[in-house]
Amino acid sequence: MKVYADNAATTKMSKTAIDAMLPYMENVFGNPSSLYSIGQAAAEAVYSARESIAKNLGCATNEIYFTSGGSEADNQAIRSAAEIGAKRNKKHIISTTFEHHAVLHTLKKLEKEGFEVTLLDVHENGIVTPEQVDEAIRPDTCLVTIMYANNEIGTIQPIKEIGAVCRAKKVTFHTDAVQAAGHLPINVQDENIDMLSLSAHKFHGPKGVGALYVRKGVYISNLIEGGAQERGKRGGTENVPGMMGTAAALEEAVANLEETNAKLVKLRDRLIEGLLEIPHSILNGDREKRLPGNVNICFEGIEGESLLLLLDAKGISASSGSACTSGSLDPSHVLLAIGRPHEIAHGSLRLSLSDENTEEQIEYIISEVPKVVEYLRNMSPVWRDLQEGKKNYVIQ
Ligand SMILES: *Cc1c(COP(=O)(O)O)cnc(C)c1O
Repeated sequence: MKVYADNAATTKMSKTAIDAMLPYMENVFGNPSSLYSIGQAAAEAVYSARESIAKNLGCATNEIYFTSGGSEADNQAIRSAAEIGAKRNKKHIISTTFEHHAVLHTLKKLEKEGFEVTLLDVHENGIVTPEQVDEAIRPDTCLVTIMYANNEIGTIQPIKEIGAVCRAKKVTFHTDAVQAAGHLPINVQDENIDMLSLSAHKFHGPKGVGALYVRKGVYISNLIEGGAQERGKRGGTENVPGMMGTAAALEEAVANLEETNAKLVKLRDRLIEGLLEIPHSILNGDREKRLPGNVNICFEGIEGESLLLLLDAKGISASSGSACTSGSLDPSHVLLAIGRPHEIAHGSLRLSLSDENTEEQIEYIISEVPKVVEYLRNMSPVWRDLQEGKKNYVIQ
């Protein structure tokens, strides 16, 4: 059986998204800046894509800027807030320890450029509170950037409440909503959000396209000097098919949100229940406030990487954390952030589901993972020490 259960890394494009893109590669290939009709047809398509995304986020059409994806949107949002902050002598930024590297590495760079960054600790359940944000805000704070939902452990943050704190203190609030857009209902007005990043390939759209919402009146810098595209903020001929695919995928995801999530929650809960039957295993992240398709579990005494390779041999595509940290030997910074000790953080498994997954696939995962975990434990010297009482279990 083949099971793709790594939808937090990327998703398969939906038929709707592909169909929305094809005409703009085949017939309507004009440059949106050209004045003749085939160019104007492309320009209208770009407008309609922007309008559709705006509608699905609850903002105005001219508050949406297309980007090359989530990472670019995060970089652009943070860099812009830092630039205007520096001009006003406000060089303090607040974020959290479990952000995506697109955020954390941008902040590291800004620290080298003289900014001060406060990274809030995340509670063991994988959630930061508005109170923490409130306490950390200073007169020189120019930006709060906190992710909507975590890409590894799936925990959903109290975004509306955090936004309210920022608004009351007149601090710009950005959220990396790459895991949330198309998966959770979002309304940037209601949720007090000033800037929001999304990425199409996380909701069955094309790779290499995303968007940044920037509330009217909030400063953003010119990312690419060039033509007048994206209101002069990001020059360069538009990725028209990509924009059409993004809009169609988001439209479809939002339209089916309730139905998809009701199905995913069932599959997720069955999967969590089944996998936690394995002795010395623990769920990472809050049981309730988590993405409908996210399961993340640590198994004591094994290496997540070996687990993934053996699962791959059984046709199951999963992850041990973020795609960006695979290839490095460090354990996930997210699992360390919620207080998991190194020795168990290494033994993590993330399964992220989509509505393509079936009950049969979930039962298959539940039957295969325990065998693989047992096989790996039987070869592990750490496991032997635990069994012989030479070491204490971290997970009871
Ligand atoms: C995937 C992801 C990103 C990066 O998006 P890309 O479009 O791949 O650049 C950023 N933040 C989060 C939370 C993500 O899951």
